[in-house]
Amino acid sequence: MTMPEKNLQQEIRVRFAPSPTGDLHLGNVRTALYNWLFSKHFDGKFILRVEDTDKVRSTEQAFENLLQIMKWLDLKWDEGPVIGGPFEPYRQSERTEIYKKYLNQLEKMELVYPCFCSEEELELERKRQLGRGQMPKYGGKCFHLTEQERANLKNQKKPFVLRFQVRTGEIRFMDAIRGEVVFPQDQIGDFVLTRTDGSPTYNFTVVVDDALMKITHVIRGEDHLSNTPKQILIYEALGFNPPKFAHLSIIKGADGQKLSKRHGETSAEFYRSKGYRSDAFLNYLALLGWSPAKGEILSLDEMIQEFDLSRMGKSGAIFDHQKLRWMGGQYISKMLLDELTRCVLPFLEDAHLLNRTWVRDQFEWLKEVVDLVRGHLCCYSDIIYETFYFFSDELNFSPEQSEELQAQKELLLNFYNEFQEVFEKEALNQENFFKVMKSVSTKTEKKRQALYHPLRLALTGRNDGPELIKIAILLKNKKILERLNLWITETDSV
Ligand code: GLU
Repeated sequence: MTMPEKNLQQEIRVRFAPSPTGDLHLGNVRTALYNWLFSKHFDGKFILRVEDTDKVRSTEQAFENLLQIMKWLDLKWDEGPVIGGPFEPYRQSERTEIYKKYLNQLEKMELVYPCFCSEEELELERKRQLGRGQMPKYGGKCFHLTEQERANLKNQKKPFVLRFQVRTGEIRFMDAIRGEVVFPQDQIGDFVLTRTDGSPTYNFTVVVDDALMKITHVIRGEDHLSNTPKQILIYEALGFNPPKFAHLSIIKGADGQKLSKRHGETSAEFYRSKGYRSDAFLNYLALLGWSPAKGEILSLDEMIQEFDLSRMGKSGAIFDHQKLRWMGGQYISKMLLDELTRCVLPFLEDAHLLNRTWVRDQFEWLKEVVDLVRGHLCCYSDIIYETFYFFSDELNFSPEQSEELQAQKELLLNFYNEFQEVFEKEALNQENFFKVMKSVSTKTEKKRQALYHPLRLALTGRNDGPELIKIAILLKNKKILERLNLWITETDSV
């Protein structure tokens, strides 16, 4: 497929067609993004269609979550649920009558027949074929039933599905990413168009909808490659022109296998709830399979400009959580402090580290705290780990850390006394902090370098973190004394 020229007469129409059966997977988000970018690049239309004909697996909750995620990602659709459009409805569960009409058409053409084979029979057939080294496909048993036999089985109320009668001959199509794809003759068995409850299956509804919605390009995951020849057969049978196809390589985990739960979190909802910025998230996902010419960090506008299916990789890209974190950090580092502080606030609240009323008076202080750790934030929820000790006195010390602090009782007592003396006159600042350090160093005959770690540990419960002097100034007098006092008075019990 050659890339369409901008300003071409025909309007580019693409769709994202998720099934609301669970959390939206990262791969789905990437598919949505690529379709969205493609439509914007060509001034076309991006359609959201909800494929919810599987009544058992589709849920209203998953549909609502899908809308939430799309909103978070800010991938606005031009036609689809909520806003409607010229080809509504955009939920397949509301298009039953439309599918019936096209099913009738196939029935009239005698391209459809009822199949009464049970799951067990089909599974047995499959196993036999695999055992013989053959590709499993339906052998056509029910195709050979006579009209009388069919009528008898229906009278006996035996459940049946409807199968599409596959023509002979190979099936070929051009894929924008893979080039020419050929499915040899006899590889595809007669496949199912309706389930036993009469509801139509994906391969059938997708064709009817893509055709009626005038979809020009189908950009979807490689896992659908084997469905495409079946869909082409339905296009042919119904007299529709097939769209252009582009099958995206799968996203893999670090071990090279298809990305799944066992590689870690794969749902978009997880990353949203962790407080990843949606622009960073999309930027990272955009790179999983696409190599933009202009480098890695691109705004959505730059992505729209540059988006090009010919720069898509054929082999699957590897999802690298560390790189996503890095990308998240890049976007956070560019935020204004005020905005960043407002964005992390809900996460501190949810962790019960602060509440709104308190924030009103302390916002400037809070901004300084956020500024201190912003270089360590890859997503907003990182704020909890990075600043915990500013809000909570429940510091968790490991046995080794407790041991270290107990062994430094003398030193911590010195710190306590020196700080207390300072605090009688003034609040902590750069100058008096260094004076304290100097004086403690002289009194304990320890190098100044050796003083920092125990002090940091006692004040924050951590071995590392931002500059200690800045932490101490923001912690303020009272907390500093309280935390030192803990080790001076209760060394055995902590
Ligand atoms: N409902 C299908 C899915 O979620 C859509 C596949 C397609 O884009 O054709 O995988």
